[in-house]
Amino acid sequence: MPLLSNFINGSWQKSLEHNRVPVVNPANLETLAEVACGQETTVDVDNAVKAASAALNDWSNTPVMERVKPLYQLRSLLEEHKNALAETITLECGKTLSESLGEMTRAIENVEMACATPALIQSEFSEDIASGIDEFMIRQPLGVAACISPFNFPGMIPFWFFPYALACGNTYIIKPSEKVPMTMNKLFSLIEQLDLPKGVINLVHGSKESTNALLTHPEVKAISFVGSSEVAKYVYATAAAHGKRVQAQGGAKNPIVVLPDADMEMTTKIVVDSVYGCAGQRCLAASTIITVGGASKGFREAIADSAASRVTGFGLDQGVEMGPVITPESKQRIENLIQQGINEGAKPLIDGRSPRVAGYEKGNFIAPTILENIPRGSELNTTEIFGPVMNLMHIKSVDEAINFINSGRYGNMACLFTSSGSSARKFRKEVKAGNIGINIGVAAPMAQFPFSGWKDSFYGDLHGQGRHAIEFFTQTKVVVERWPKDWSRKF
Ligand code: NAD
Repeated sequence: MPLLSNFINGSWQKSLEHNRVPVVNPANLETLAEVACGQETTVDVDNAVKAASAALNDWSNTPVMERVKPLYQLRSLLEEHKNALAETITLECGKTLSESLGEMTRAIENVEMACATPALIQSEFSEDIASGIDEFMIRQPLGVAACISPFNFPGMIPFWFFPYALACGNTYIIKPSEKVPMTMNKLFSLIEQLDLPKGVINLVHGSKESTNALLTHPEVKAISFVGSSEVAKYVYATAAAHGKRVQAQGGAKNPIVVLPDADMEMTTKIVVDSVYGCAGQRCLAASTIITVGGASKGFREAIADSAASRVTGFGLDQGVEMGPVITPESKQRIENLIQQGINEGAKPLIDGRSPRVAGYEKGNFIAPTILENIPRGSELNTTEIFGPVMNLMHIKSVDEAINFINSGRYGNMACLFTSSGSSARKFRKEVKAGNIGINIGVAAPMAQFPFSGWKDSFYGDLHGQGRHAIEFFTQTKVVVERWPKDWSRKF
């Protein structure tokens, strides 16, 4: 079985391989490759940091217009190889091919946005703050930066960070999830073709050991993390304690509120897509659906019919609308949570545990599930399930719905479906979440916007993408200069 290589200092390098972990297709549990994990990977990290440090001086002194040129090349290569990248995502991550293609589209948009860095990095200049004195601010790179990414968007998430980091003059290291490492190897087979000096961008594999090596390495100046809140909180604290700039995106428990005046046909379709897209393994997936007042009438039946008709299977097969969850452990955890909800008094409107998917009997499949009326105090109302499970609840008023949402620990996204402008305005103003949808499910924001998140969904200050990324990957220097008119006569 092939062991995935690292890409360090411009070439493919074999990892020390004491602890090989299989990379598994979640639809049939076949091993696709192997990846190195364990203590030895800290040596790989050290080698990658050395390469990135050595490349830093020349790269940070390269004019920004030159630094974005490889990004234009990357954009063309990504368009050309988008299908192959998407197929790899589906194979190792399980989502459908169209979901994987959508992921790559978002990745490309971030490359396009980062190509605007020459304009975005420009700063303020004040002439004559006093007679003959000017003051201005410049943005300079931080140094070596790194990202640590989760399993659910292996192709997109590193793109929230690295194109901007490189364009701003930093050098970079990507550490993908050990569950889905193949997509980045495929991407680096394209990066290898760019006119980039060696060491400017590097790939290292591994799990918590390589993460820790990055968080504590004195030469790494910035960390971008995306994953579960427990690890995000740890990453934030550890990297900050080691003097690094950190942004750490965490988990979620996202609500959608449906008012009686909503367009129910449109709402049903969008809610089902939002809950079951990527088998619920999206940090912006809706998890709790709250109907207010009379909105439940007819809606619960429509939503159950629509969810039950969703075709579950292997993401590369035609007609499949939902893939498996990532691991057998994940499937077991989600099925246990469903049972816990039922034991606590929730009613299973549809129960998708252990569906039979012909030809993929070993796969980690769970079909769409709806639990109605999980008791308010239940752990299921606060735990991130990260699977195709909808918690359907009924509440009397918008105020009660907003209070319920704001009492939760997460704040990634919240949506409202209504035809009332004043209800929509109240909702977007009062709900404590970083992404709001009105009559639309929330997908990852376009690249010109920051990927926001509140409460336990985000630790840090500046987010990924767009202007926030430019700010995150640069440090400001304010210069004040005096050039009296008559000085030139002295020289
Ligand atoms: P995870 O936290 O298990 O892993 C994320 C990364 O951290 C991986 O690269 C992994 O190798 C590393 N890691 C895991 N445990 C570690 C530890 N103890 N110490 C150091 N490093 C460790 O997350 P996951 O299961 O891969 O991804 C799913 C989670 O990511 C969900 O909670 C989801 O909501 C979240 N997520 C959030 C966003 C967002 O934008 N807020 C986006 C995507 C996913």
